[in-house]
Amino acid sequence: SDNLFDVIIIGAGAAGLMAAISASERNKKVLVLDHAKRPGKKILISGGGRCNFTNYYIEPSKYISSNPHFCKSALNQYTQWDFISLVEKYDIAYHEKTLGQLFCDQSAKDIVSMLLSECEKNQVSFRYQQEIDEVKKDEKGYFFIKSNDSEYKAHSLIIASGGLSMPRLGATPFAYKVAESFDLDIVPTKAALVPLTLDPILKDLTEKISGISHSVNVFNEKAEFSEDLLFTHRGLSGPAVLQISSYWNQGEDIKINLLPTVCLKSHFDEALKSRPNCMLKTFLNFYFAKRLTETLLVLFKLKNIPIKQLSSKDLKILSQLQEWAVKPAGSEGYRTAEVTLGGVNTDAISSKTMEVKSIPGLFFIGEALDVTGWLGGYNFQWAWSSGWVAGKNA
Ligand code: FAD
Repeated sequence: SDNLFDVIIIGAGAAGLMAAISASERNKKVLVLDHAKRPGKKILISGGGRCNFTNYYIEPSKYISSNPHFCKSALNQYTQWDFISLVEKYDIAYHEKTLGQLFCDQSAKDIVSMLLSECEKNQVSFRYQQEIDEVKKDEKGYFFIKSNDSEYKAHSLIIASGGLSMPRLGATPFAYKVAESFDLDIVPTKAALVPLTLDPILKDLTEKISGISHSVNVFNEKAEFSEDLLFTHRGLSGPAVLQISSYWNQGEDIKINLLPTVCLKSHFDEALKSRPNCMLKTFLNFYFAKRLTETLLVLFKLKNIPIKQLSSKDLKILSQLQEWAVKPAGSEGYRTAEVTLGGVNTDAISSKTMEVKSIPGLFFIGEALDVTGWLGGYNFQWAWSSGWVAGKNA
């Protein structure tokens, strides 16, 4: 019948579109369903509208999962080089911004158009604004899907509906609900790659410097990142903080080295010899934006006096500029998070195909799974890789 497909994919995001491409390349009759009006919303707004579509330095250690080995096979089967050659085939100009991160020169729209062209080439069908009411496997082994306006059947079903981050872009817990209905486990979820908030006293201070960005090293026992920190009116953001947020739990400290490339002690001793009457503020202004210096003096309760007058206690406090311990009040949550930590437990899934081991024909891919990448194109690469292998096996 018209509504019988080889493969149905729920979610027309990064992972779902890639799965549609690789399944349709095998001459499968493919249908993609989405509750949104159009595909790839997150791709369109990603990377400030330029989509950081992958990274030169993809490797398993840059992914967080209860099973750190799970991501390896898919990342090997469909690599960053495979995606880059697709981008090049479509003559989409791109550049490396920093740390191997690849962005479109023009617009993220180019990536969505490319994916849709590949789908069109192989006659993939799309139905939008589908509210999915029911998903089940019937007696004959077909997947049966009932939406607000239709019923569909398929031999294989790929769940690509993503995680919980940014509900205003259409994120829903759909994948977790389907997983639970098939008795699969969910690793508890948490907002990640997310700005961290501060308690009122600290927040009042950082509010004054909101918009200032400073190169730092952020670390805790689990991870360490050398990138920019951005002060905001809610607390701390910028790539360094987004990265550490994925390794941070409520109640824990993070440590910030505000002078990551400087040996403060030797610089200070040198200044003490050559210009002992230099005021502390002047000394610090060499390293920090003026407004940041002012705030740091208040924060660390240091007086603006000639550096030769600083007591040994003052010097100890000054050394905290290289190991400032901050206890965030919380995170901004799913509202502004780029990704979701946790998700469908990978124990039940074949890492080679993304198929649920106990339920032939059912696949989970992308952010819905308990695989979360670093900031920098790693999450899209996971979507492309997991999507590609599922489509190849569905
Ligand atoms: P999604 O792309 O989220 O797609 C899920 C699809 O499922 C959507 O089309 C949605 O409408 C649909 N859906 C959801 N619920 C239902 C339902 N109940 N019924 C039907 N359909 C449903 N990663 C990078 O690597 N580089 C970046 O530059 C980058 N920038 C980002 C910027 C922002 C602001 C955000 C929020 C994320 C960014 N990410 C980035 C992360 C990246 O967007 C995601 O990891 C990636 O999109 C996940 O792909 P996915 O296909 O699994 O899910």
